[in-house]
Amino acid sequence: MTLNIGLCQNSDITTNLYETYENYRESILTKRRVKHHELQPLFLKHATDKAFIVNKVGKSIEGRALNLISIGSGKTNVLLWSQMHGNEPTATQAIFDILNFLASNDFQEEKKEILENLTIHFLPMLNPDGAERFQRRNLLGVDINRDAVRLQSPESKTLKHVRDSLKADFGFNLHDQSAYYNAERTEKPATISYLAPAFNYEKNISEKRGNAMKIIVFMNNIIQKYAPGQVSRYNDDFEPRAFGDNIQKWGTSTILIESGGYANDVEKQEIRKLNYVSILSAIYTIAKENYKDIPIEEYEKIPENDRKLFDLKIVNASYNLLGKDYVLDVGMNRLEVDKEGNNDFWYSSRIIDQGDLSTYYGYETLNASGFTIRQGEIYPNSLINIRELKDLDSFDLLKQGYTYVRVANIPGGMLESPIPMNILSSTYELPGLLLKVGINPTFILEKDGKPHYAVINGFLIDLISGKSDFKNAMIYR
Ligand SMILES: [Zn+2]
Repeated sequence: MTLNIGLCQNSDITTNLYETYENYRESILTKRRVKHHELQPLFLKHATDKAFIVNKVGKSIEGRALNLISIGSGKTNVLLWSQMHGNEPTATQAIFDILNFLASNDFQEEKKEILENLTIHFLPMLNPDGAERFQRRNLLGVDINRDAVRLQSPESKTLKHVRDSLKADFGFNLHDQSAYYNAERTEKPATISYLAPAFNYEKNISEKRGNAMKIIVFMNNIIQKYAPGQVSRYNDDFEPRAFGDNIQKWGTSTILIESGGYANDVEKQEIRKLNYVSILSAIYTIAKENYKDIPIEEYEKIPENDRKLFDLKIVNASYNLLGKDYVLDVGMNRLEVDKEGNNDFWYSSRIIDQGDLSTYYGYETLNASGFTIRQGEIYPNSLINIRELKDLDSFDLLKQGYTYVRVANIPGGMLESPIPMNILSSTYELPGLLLKVGINPTFILEKDGKPHYAVINGFLIDLISGKSDFKNAMIYR
């Protein structure tokens, strides 16, 4: 077992931060689709505290203010920016938790150490126009993280200007990544991925980049405690247009943090907590400078990031096509479709791959050995309108092998089926093939001619025990 010097010295504060987190969680922020207007009262709240300085440092294309909030009087400048991709909000929430911690009267000794040695600057939600639409790019349609050199977007100019005016010693570049990333050759999701970005094609390790690696090793050891095996290391190929790579090049020790997936944490609130604990602990170790003792070689031991996870993986199922039986694995994902206003979403699932998926993993895996995949039937009694759905015993119908119900009058604005059966209009025809990459996964798994499981819009329903995490089914007009 490798013991880590930095972590040992700081392990008490880390444990305390984890255990006392609820005292500082910013309760206004509860889900991923956070909007700029929700953050403004929080800036106002902290601006009344003389410990903080809030400065408007720029604005987005649509005119939304970009605020920098600073605290501390130390000579080492630490800059944290989040959500340059509008649909990557986890760290934005963690920043406001950290601000609440810094505003509190607790942890006096540690806070004194932090604020006397460091000046910390937070630039949360760098891409508010993207956040408004829950999309990666800004209103210009540009990926801000490919605009670090050309600097066409006002958001990019602001980040560059802030970095340069502070000559930040440390930079935290805070993102989210797909929940389908895993730690290489393991079924563990990459809940957190790190990178000390390269500043040239040769991937040289300067003292500054080396310091970023050491702090990543420090944070990895913390996350391992709460999410064992769920950390990976991002590919360090040099990207000459990206901010992380350039900020490293401009002389700031830069740490990329990507918040990925965690089982049963769709809104990423546990991951937000892990951000809070690990970033705050990293800030503490920067203040104490005890990260310097951490061996750089530990960085390379963090597993690489891979993308081999499905929401649901069914293995070894039997499948009959044109009278012949085959063995298939099926991997499927529940894709989010935003509702109007981008405040909420529903699921529209897809088969992502089928065949031998033995090198892939699932958040949920069913060994379907001995089970046969077959088409679900359309319930023969058509409904006139949607209100009649509540009179259906849909679970009982699934057990009889029905996965579809026809409804004559489907309201125009209705997007999702609330019952675990897909709704069809009177005229909708089902596609010919049951299993095909790109189509919606809805079928029955039967044994000895009897349905045991239903897969409805990618959600697995155990028809014997009733166990399921079903959210919504589809409507086809
Ligand atoms: Zn990103």
